Parts: sequence; C-alpha cells; structure tokens
Amino acid sequence: MIGMQTPIIDYINLLLETVGEDSGEVASYIPELARADPDRLAIAMATLDGEVYVAGDCDVEFTIQSISKPFTYALAIADQGLDVVLKHIDVEPSGDAFNEISLDPVTGKPRNPMINAGAIASHALVRGDDAEARVERILELYGRLAGRPLTIAEDVFESELSEADRNMALAYMLRTAGTLDGDPTDVVRGYTRQCSVSVTVRDLARMASVLAAGGRTPNGDQVIDSDVNRQVLSVMATCGMYDSAGDWLTSVGIPAKSGVAGGLMGVLPGQVGIAVFSPRLDAHGNSSRGVRLFERMNRDLGLHLMAGP
Ligand code: GLN
Repeated sequence: MIGMQTPIIDYINLLLETVGEDSGEVASYIPELARADPDRLAIAMATLDGEVYVAGDCDVEFTIQSISKPFTYALAIADQGLDVVLKHIDVEPSGDAFNEISLDPVTGKPRNPMINAGAIASHALVRGDDAEARVERILELYGRLAGRPLTIAEDVFESELSEADRNMALAYMLRTAGTLDGDPTDVVRGYTRQCSVSVTVRDLARMASVLAAGGRTPNGDQVIDSDVNRQVLSVMATCGMYDSAGDWLTSVGIPAKSGVAGGLMGVLPGQVGIAVFSPRLDAHGNSSRGVRLFERMNRDLGLHLMAGP
C-alpha cells in the first residue's frame, strides 16, 4: 500500500479542489444543524485491510443522522431474526421523502428501514432492558464498526428532540398499526439519540468498509453476520437515497446512505468504503456536493456495480 498512498491522496485532494460551487441549504428543521458551517468539505476512503485515506475537513465531527439507519437495522435483524423484522418493516423503495408520514396501505408496515418510519420501527426491535440499554448496545456496535468508541452530541440530541413532533407522530402511527412495541416517546427519544452520534468522515468510511468486507472489520472480527450484511446492503442500494434512490443507483450504482447533517457513505462490496461530508443538501435531503463527488468518482474509477467487464 505504501506506493499507492500518494496517488490516492492526490486524487481525493483533486476531487475536493475541483468539485465546484455548492448549492442547496443546510438542514434547518433541527435548529442545531442550522448552525453548521456550510462550507465544510471532506472525503475519506477506507480499504478492507484498514488503510484510511483522507482529504479536507476530515477530523470535523458531525452527527451521523440517517446514516445510522442501516447499522441499527443490522442489529435489529441480529437480535430478532430476519423473519421477525420483515413482519414489522418492508423492503420496498417508497419514492417518498425520508420523513413521509406513510405506511404501506396493503401491509400496514413502514415501506423500508431507511425512511424514518422504518428506522423508528428498527430501533424499537433492538433488544435492551430499557430505552437507555438499547441506545448503549447501538452505540457499542457503531464503535466496533468505526474502530473507536463513539459518543452522542448532546446539543444536537436536545435540539432535535425539542422539534421531534413529526417523528413522534410516526411512532404513534406505528403503534396504532401494531408494528411498534413499547412506548412511542421512549422509542423516538432513543432513535433521536442514535441519530445524534458524533462521527467524522474517517469513522464513516471505516464503517462502510466493514459493510464492504461482508461485515468483518480489518482485525478479522465478524461484527455483522454475512447474511445480515447482504440484507443491509441490498436495502441501502434500493432505498438508501430516499426519493432519489433510482437516480443514485443509475448514476453511481453502489449501496449508499445519506444523513441530514451532510454525511454520505457509499459501499463498494469487496473493495472499499467511501464517505463524504458537505452540509448543504439537495431537495431530497442528500448532500449536494456529496452526490456530485460520488458521480465523479464513478466516472473516474468505475464504481458502478452494474457496469460490464
Ligand atoms: N434525525 C433525522 C430525522 O429523524 C434523520 C433524518 C436524515 O438524516 N435524513 O429526521
């Protein structure tokens, strides 16, 4: 890898220099996120053997937000088994915004675990004696994936919880539909804590690289069972970018997940985990420069899983 280091670092620095003007707005429905510096820009690539290449604001911390959803979904499946989880949450792309108040009219379930309705249901399926124990187990998993202990940004948590009426509505709706066990207020509180975990692009790239390695860390620790890992990547590929999942899969072609703080994580199975951070969001709530950077990487590096030989 020593000889590879300079070209990769040069390439990712070039990406940041040439990405061009930013458009869109930082998320403002969570007051604390509206205070973020919109011009931050960072990228990280993590190989399966644990090398991480970084450029830009790579040590700036931001909240994981919806990029937490695939990992909590993995834990829910590990705890309950896939059959039980599928009884609560479908795996169909919704074509809806991430916070849409919707359940499938036929099944009565959230359409997938990447939109808020399904993510709140996944959170509730994680085992734990109480709400705090659930969050502890989630935090422990994320830390094992990132390769370092992670903590919660309490200011962002408090800020989002004070404006969480929409997610509360979703949780109460899930309970009415019979897909949520437990107290909706506790579940939304826990889900909001999960979204408030503080990360850098290094962490996200490393977490993505574990998904790319079939659930195994660079130390050889099988943190996510390979069948569960495949389920998670499949759902990320079809639903990870919400109502632009089709655009993403055709133009970039790899499983990915975005978050409203401006993080965006992509997984090239068997090869690499990639993460980008840029807080201004497009109309779908995905990092606008982040999407452009991945499109460029696909053109330059041929990431697309459906590309021919
Ligand atoms: N915590 C955010 C919410 O529930 C996550 C949304 C996102 O990142 N798209 O609204």
